[in-house]
Amino acid sequence: MKKGIYAFLLLASLAVFGFWWLGQENEKVKHSAQAAEKKQIVASGYVVYDLLRSIGGDKIAVTQLVPPGTEPHHFEPTPGTIIRISEADLLVYVSAELEPWVKEILKGLADVPSLAAGPVYEGEDPHVWISPYGALAMAKEIEKALVTLDPQNKAYYRKNLKKFEKEIEQLHQDFKQGLSACQTKEMVHVGHLAFGALARDYHLNFHALTGTSHQSEHSVKKMAALVKMIKNQKVSAVFTEELLAPDLAQMVSAETGVQILPLYTIQGVSKTDFEQGKTYQDFMRQNLENLQKGLVCPAL
Ligand SMILES: [Zn+2]
Repeated sequence: MKKGIYAFLLLASLAVFGFWWLGQENEKVKHSAQAAEKKQIVASGYVVYDLLRSIGGDKIAVTQLVPPGTEPHHFEPTPGTIIRISEADLLVYVSAELEPWVKEILKGLADVPSLAAGPVYEGEDPHVWISPYGALAMAKEIEKALVTLDPQNKAYYRKNLKKFEKEIEQLHQDFKQGLSACQTKEMVHVGHLAFGALARDYHLNFHALTGTSHQSEHSVKKMAALVKMIKNQKVSAVFTEELLAPDLAQMVSAETGVQILPLYTIQGVSKTDFEQGKTYQDFMRQNLENLQKGLVCPAL
């Protein structure tokens, strides 16, 4: 009987030693690889992922935590999410307001450097990137964080930010001009309050069916009010969201006869758009085109 216990203890200590040794080897492999490789950066969702690509270019390796095709407001982190964050050199997200799950994870991973690129005060609209200058402010924060993380490539990151800034200036001019003389200023969105910053900056009246997150319920009353407004204001289109079930927009369209046009929130994108590598600018130009169509604006 005693023999059995000793054999067990021996095996157990061998196993412990084995795991320790494997762990040491893994650490060595990890460190030598990290020294030679690019900085590993994880992005919460697509908009930060794409801004990181624009500024970090080929000097960083960036991956996205929320899988393509997933609605970002509904994302539930898995143990794999936590492991990926713990192994990263930097985590970039939009804000705790938009992604409360990041805040929860960071409580347990205080030593992982992180950046909230578009923070807002509690209760404010967290979709700050949806206006071009909001995205530029986020890109500036990202550039600062990359320079701190990797000062060697400072000039490269600075150059990419300058290029991005120029593109954003052009995008802003096109939005300003493209939406300045439309037949209607009523932007009716059968989705959540994600486009408020865009409407504010280009002087449109934004009407959304639900609140700032996809969880917020719409009410029958709100729906009836939207339908009434569409009829009274001679609105010719309603806007919907790429990752939203189309049934509500179809209901409004059936009731009023208006066309349905998609808008892109960009923080969550479809698998196809992800695979095609569409950029923030691509999505925003598509948004502008659909807004011009829906609000009946003169072509650029
Ligand atoms: Zn949203």
